[in-house]
Amino acid sequence: MLTNLIIMADKPLKRYIFASDFDNTLTFNDSGYVLSELVGIPTEEFERKATGMAKINLVQQGAELAYLLLHDPEFKAKVRKEQLREVGKRIRLKGEIKLLYQILKNGIDGYEFDFYVLSAAPVEVIQSALEGIVPPDHIFGTEFLYTPTGEIDTIVRATAGYGKVAVLDRLVEKHVAGPDHVIYTGDGSSDIHVMLHINARDGLTIAVSESRDVSQIAKRTVLSTSALAVLAPILEEVAGWERYRIRGFFEANGMLLQEWERVRTDWLTLRPTAEDKSAQVEVISTRPQQTLV
Ligand SMILES: [Mg+2]
Repeated sequence: MLTNLIIMADKPLKRYIFASDFDNTLTFNDSGYVLSELVGIPTEEFERKATGMAKINLVQQGAELAYLLLHDPEFKAKVRKEQLREVGKRIRLKGEIKLLYQILKNGIDGYEFDFYVLSAAPVEVIQSALEGIVPPDHIFGTEFLYTPTGEIDTIVRATAGYGKVAVLDRLVEKHVAGPDHVIYTGDGSSDIHVMLHINARDGLTIAVSESRDVSQIAKRTVLSTSALAVLAPILEEVAGWERYRIRGFFEANGMLLQEWERVRTDWLTLRPTAEDKSAQVEVISTRPQQTLV
């Protein structure tokens, strides 16, 4: 029969969007601290101002640095575009980001994951840090307009808090990907909105820190010094691979998966009943769920 002669076409690729935060997700530190050091503002001073900003909830969480760059006289006077690029060169990146990009793009049979960065950090910082690793048009950071003399003049867009949801929705629309074909990884309070948004649409959220802000919301938590570690929950949850196959895959890509412990941390704060208010005990117990690679 004719139908028997038809050669089966390759299975269509399943396309996903992989979006990642930058500060403390792809790096070991925060660009605000590196910038303060670079321009000679004590980091304690930056921390005091940023924490104060966060407390009053005037700006989206994570946009504190953007606000300081626009409105704090000291930051405004000292920071230029070139310094933002220099911060990108100084910031310490987690390992294997390039390999992660390549594997997600075309290293997993039957799948294609488009790697984007969504961060509240100034776009110049991220583009400079990820030069040759992630294409500039895959990086969405906070954008400023500059005066002819290089001072920060106004803000175009802050990719913080709900700002990340807005960018992600545009990406989903552009890719015509289903809202469940989205993976997001982040570490802090600026990632809460976007993680809740993705969870509600059956996407996959991965926390890369034990910060309660995100580890309670994210479907999975992975702690590692290598950016590649997020592949473990992606291959499990999206591709449905068994652990032995994932181990083999890491090895085939030149990375030995040395330790893979799974613990889930339960944070319990116990308080004495009305009679004795003096003692307060915090109990931490663990049970399977979290991944340490
Ligand atoms: Mg972060």
